[in-house]
Amino acid sequence: MQRNNHLDAIVVGAGIAGLYAIYRLRELGLSFQAFDAAPDVGGTWYWNSYPGARVDSQSYVYQYWFSDELLKEWDWSERFPSQPETERYLNFVADKFELRQHIRFNTRVAHANWDEAAGLWTVETEAGERYTAKYFVSCAGMLSAPKVPPFPGHEQYKGVIAHTARWPRGIDLKGKKVGVVGTGATGIQVIQTIAGEVAELKVFQRTAQYAVRMNNERYDAKRFAEWRAQYPRLREHVHHTFAGFDFDFHLPSWHSLTPAQRREELEKLWTDGSLAIWVGGFQESLIDPAINEEVSEFVREKIRAQINDPKVAEMLVPRLYGFGTYRVPLENGYYEAFNRDNVEVIDVRATPIERFTEKGLVVNGREFELDVVILATGFDAGTGALARMDVRGRDGRSLTELWSKDIRSTLGLQVHGFPNLFTVAGPLAPSTAFCNMTTCLQQQVDWVMNCITWLRANGKRAIEPTREREDEWVRHHDEVANSTLLMRTKSWYTGDNIEGKPRRLLSYIGGVGNYRQICDEAQASGYQGFKVA
Ligand code: NAP
Repeated sequence: MQRNNHLDAIVVGAGIAGLYAIYRLRELGLSFQAFDAAPDVGGTWYWNSYPGARVDSQSYVYQYWFSDELLKEWDWSERFPSQPETERYLNFVADKFELRQHIRFNTRVAHANWDEAAGLWTVETEAGERYTAKYFVSCAGMLSAPKVPPFPGHEQYKGVIAHTARWPRGIDLKGKKVGVVGTGATGIQVIQTIAGEVAELKVFQRTAQYAVRMNNERYDAKRFAEWRAQYPRLREHVHHTFAGFDFDFHLPSWHSLTPAQRREELEKLWTDGSLAIWVGGFQESLIDPAINEEVSEFVREKIRAQINDPKVAEMLVPRLYGFGTYRVPLENGYYEAFNRDNVEVIDVRATPIERFTEKGLVVNGREFELDVVILATGFDAGTGALARMDVRGRDGRSLTELWSKDIRSTLGLQVHGFPNLFTVAGPLAPSTAFCNMTTCLQQQVDWVMNCITWLRANGKRAIEPTREREDEWVRHHDEVANSTLLMRTKSWYTGDNIEGKPRRLLSYIGGVGNYRQICDEAQASGYQGFKVA
């Protein structure tokens, strides 16, 4: 059936950002429609329901701040909440604010075209439904296009292949022979969770990780009330720290401390058991190779101490890159899992996975018989979600084509040549990787809504960054990125995990507080550097 609806705005995605965008658009009194490919709300927290999925941000900062009532009504049960609890929270928000009525589920947007003469986006779903809208607000997520490695022979495999980001709910792994490909933040959570229940676990590891022991805590009502009492402070404070958390880089310079004092600080950070050891510890560790190596060695030592067999420890201790130059995962029993008799790590760096057979996977001529192969192989991050839609701006220019050559944006929020396209969680903003996501997503959605409000109040039809403004942002972004060690590491942070993807740090790393100020200044200046028509 063809529909032809003219709307003020279209939102893609019903995860953390999308739900908030819906709430704000309704508040502004605009006509709009949201779409999500999933059958329900949650975005990341809907799709990634794999065993052990858990938030690496503290619950008391990983939430919405827009409603006092919501803050009063929702109690978190843990310091680091599980995927089911986080998904329940997002469902609670959707129900409480009656957001579902605005979302078409099981609906993927396939094309979006800017019509310059009409000043409208024409958006078409995979089912062929067409809508027009003044504003196209993408909340499609920065880690939502799964990466599936093209291992030959997968069609003949008789077992189950499950990507963690498309987890088949209800699958039972008990007593099965299971292989896990990938040891990023996701693989680590899966491995530590299923090791005790499966018959055999084969871990195919290409790059060892610096996983830090998570210090989780269950909250009773009294303990949680202590955190709730801090909400008025937290809801302000998170917007001004380096990575949108409660903590920030706070230590004196590395060189001003004695080796014993540095050790003491690192031990404190380790005991805290959070991402503070990465984005709330020694900032110089992300810049100075010698300091980074010392911090890396501290973490390696902690890892070694958890593994019984020195040969296995050698395989699991990371050496190919420096601590914190790629997302630091938190773990809870990951290294200990490799002390179990039923768990084996297989190096697939020297000898990559060759192929699937009917029974399993082949590495270095050895066939591993597996009932289930779990792909924890990551995402086409930052750009993937939008690039797989066919988004065309002025003069038919393709966003997919642009980003296949050069990943550009202005503040990660708009792209030159694509008027009225708003890219929440787009590349070149802290929200891609260097932010407690709820902090940055709310800030970005607010920026977009303020922009739309301004356009309407000023009788303007369209906004896009000028080429010069975009060049300036990209230059600044690159300058900050190149001053850090992050560019030395190959990972999804730099697009290196996707063949042919242009290399650029996907996330702005100048700090969340600083980024927010730049965004606020753009707004306060009446969008200088943007073409407003
Ligand atoms: P990832 O960090 O990109 O890790 C993918 C893993 O798969 C890597 O170990 C990679 O090895 C491996 N891999 C990919 N292709 C392979 C191949 N052909 N053969 C063998 N190994 C292959 O992806 P992720 O673990 O899904 O994490 C992505 C991001 O999601 C995280 O960095 C984090 O930001 C987010 N996340 C957050 C949470 C949380 O907050 N709790 C949990 C999970 C994920 P190489 O490293 O050698 O490429």
